[in-house]
Amino acid sequence: MGIDWHDVEKEVTGYLQDLLRFNTTNPPGNEILCAEYLDGVLTREGIEAQMTESEPGRGNVTARLSGGNEPALMLLGHTDVVAVEPDKWSRDPFGGDLVDGYLWGRGALDMKNMVAAELMVFLLLKRQGIALNRDVIYAATADEEAGKGNHGVGWLIDNHPEQVDALYVLTEGGGTDFDVNGKHFYTCQTGQKGIFRFRLQAKGSPGHGSRPHDDNAVVKLSKAIGTLGAAKLPMHSCQTLKAFLNGVADTQDHETAQALRDVLDEDKSEAALKALPFDEETVSSLRALLRNTVSPTLLQAGSKINVIPAEATAYIDGRLAPGQTDKSFEAEIRPYIGDEIELIVDQYSPPLEADTGSPLYQTVVEVMGEHDPNALVVPSIMTGGTDAKHICPRRPETQVLGFMPHRQKEGEEEMNLIHGHDERTSVENLMFATKILYDVTCRFCEKT
Ligand SMILES: [Zn+2]
Repeated sequence: MGIDWHDVEKEVTGYLQDLLRFNTTNPPGNEILCAEYLDGVLTREGIEAQMTESEPGRGNVTARLSGGNEPALMLLGHTDVVAVEPDKWSRDPFGGDLVDGYLWGRGALDMKNMVAAELMVFLLLKRQGIALNRDVIYAATADEEAGKGNHGVGWLIDNHPEQVDALYVLTEGGGTDFDVNGKHFYTCQTGQKGIFRFRLQAKGSPGHGSRPHDDNAVVKLSKAIGTLGAAKLPMHSCQTLKAFLNGVADTQDHETAQALRDVLDEDKSEAALKALPFDEETVSSLRALLRNTVSPTLLQAGSKINVIPAEATAYIDGRLAPGQTDKSFEAEIRPYIGDEIELIVDQYSPPLEADTGSPLYQTVVEVMGEHDPNALVVPSIMTGGTDAKHICPRRPETQVLGFMPHRQKEGEEEMNLIHGHDERTSVENLMFATKILYDVTCRFCEKT
């Protein structure tokens, strides 16, 4: 039986509106509201769902359609959202309003839209009676946005591994289109930088502010962060970035192509970045992706103007390029901070890179090519993270792809609203994604 996409549009729009109406701001999360709702939808459809709470209120829901012996595919989304400043919004951020074809609310782009689209795909697979070559798992989980938190898919892997035992995962992070000199592309996110958050601590001799001495912790710390902050750390390019730049370069005239390729040449990189036909934000993110980065963000020292403190601390947000580890990063920055300063690691999660040769990636390329024959898919890597950071350190073999297909309209720049005010998505984009994700899932999972 064919699918009536008109009915599907109404249905998936309704799911997204309902999900947007639950306030799942993290912290505290309260994702149980979404989990209970999704459990209800799945149960009504005759699909057995598993609901778990990692802590009171932190709800996760998973369900499975069983198939053959190929490694499973998981359709994964997080149901928590970042905080809002309601007075800066033109509409209720938890109202789920549908106005002129747009669905408004916190999470409309990050990522209740994909939670709804993946739910729809999952229900359609069941309704269409698709014979599967592998299990397909649906998972809507808590606690992605808090970064370090582990109440969602990471917790499920630790506590209910059988519910989420998938080698392949589709989640947020890529799928947005962009143009370069009239050529059209979609990203499929295969990589993300690692996180290495640390403190630099200087110790010195305490004393009175009226009698300066040479062992002042504040001065020592300042020197260290001054040197480190100004350092140009070496380039560490990765497969993903190479494939992205080459993929775009292959479609461009000689000059632009050369600039794109020169980005990976340490000596020519900076000039090449400036010559690229990209906006400033893209260029600055490329610059950050090429290397490990450090941003001093918090400082702590002293308690009185006339007392020299014995200790001074700087908090630094470090991000690691693919291929780097905590050890290689420490070795790289140590010369800038000197031996006297103590380095204390607060958070480490390694950089990640999925394989663009995997059958799931190839399926994404194929299906996207059918939906938009004039566009190419290129792999992408982000400076931030997705739930991949909770999965891959626990199960390094997992292929996590970020792919929520999305077409930007000229001058509209919807994607800039992620984590911002007035977050919204068009029903058109929701349907665009639902259809493509359905085709990707069928192509990848249908028994032939
Ligand atoms: Zn997200």
